[in-house]
Amino acid sequence: MSEYVRITVTLTQPVAVGRNVRADSRQDTHNHVPGSVLRGALAAAWIHRRGQEVTRSSEFLETFEGTGSFGPLHSADSLPVPLSVKRHKYEASQRCRSEWDAAYGQHATTCEECGDPLVFSKGQPRGRVPLESRTTTALTPEGVVRDGHLFTQSMLKEETRLSGWLHGPATHALCCAGEPIRTLSLGSRRSLRGSVTVDVDTTAEPDLIECVGEDIILRLAAPAVFCDDFGFPTDRPDLRELSDVLGVEALEVTGAWTRWDEVGGWHAASGLPKPVERAVAAGSTYRIHCAKAPSPESLRTLATRGIGLRRREGFGALYVAPRPEAHT
Ligand SMILES: [Zn+2]
Repeated sequence: MSEYVRITVTLTQPVAVGRNVRADSRQDTHNHVPGSVLRGALAAAWIHRRGQEVTRSSEFLETFEGTGSFGPLHSADSLPVPLSVKRHKYEASQRCRSEWDAAYGQHATTCEECGDPLVFSKGQPRGRVPLESRTTTALTPEGVVRDGHLFTQSMLKEETRLSGWLHGPATHALCCAGEPIRTLSLGSRRSLRGSVTVDVDTTAEPDLIECVGEDIILRLAAPAVFCDDFGFPTDRPDLRELSDVLGVEALEVTGAWTRWDEVGGWHAASGLPKPVERAVAAGSTYRIHCAKAPSPESLRTLATRGIGLRRREGFGALYVAPRPEAHT
């Protein structure tokens, strides 16, 4: 298996990847599949094939608990608009330019065509992801709806296609007991929904991380966890880690457009919520000055490996945004 592989899933049933239950009993879904969910589904497939004892094998631990990365599965529509991008505050006219990217030095505050103010992206998805919702309930043994158990669940629609990258030892997760994994169950209530087919492309090459002269532009496709030298959360990537991966010295963060996010989750084995942690939000963008331009090979490695801590849990994945129009 190569250093990285591209995985594409096609939903054969609706998929619900739960976010927080809201006060109005609606359960939102992620508009993509987080890397942690992909990792959990692949591990479940291994356990289904080889039994619970496989979780004690060195092969399993290296694949699922090792240095690999399980990236999120996204469509072009579900990826966030980078936080460095400015758009019209109000509706743009047809003649207007649509985006300005501060990571490329485009610092306009108003549209030169219509004069409207421009505002930074909040990391919203670039397009509309088709969702459907279903209302379900839990019944008591007497057949009465349990208090507080009627809720509406939104789900990703059947036939949606989502893609992402696995890097390093995580690529081994796609083959178990000599047989490739061709189907998975993703998300909650897997007996009722969540089936996907899996296509693996070992020859695909990722888009190169954006490069301007000796600078690189990094954009987070998933929340990222960074620590400073004292172990405290920070919103800046580790330049030593970047220098190691790129093979050239990463000297300075010259631009950062970030937000904090709170990341929790559900620990399936214990049936308890995981502690909520601070992470840098998806869509956050950095411009980083390097001693010289990194090689294309190292930029491909970085694109599929991601940055920061807990990459095997889907944190720190990167993406490449459409290149902005030239500055006018
Ligand atoms: Zn305009």
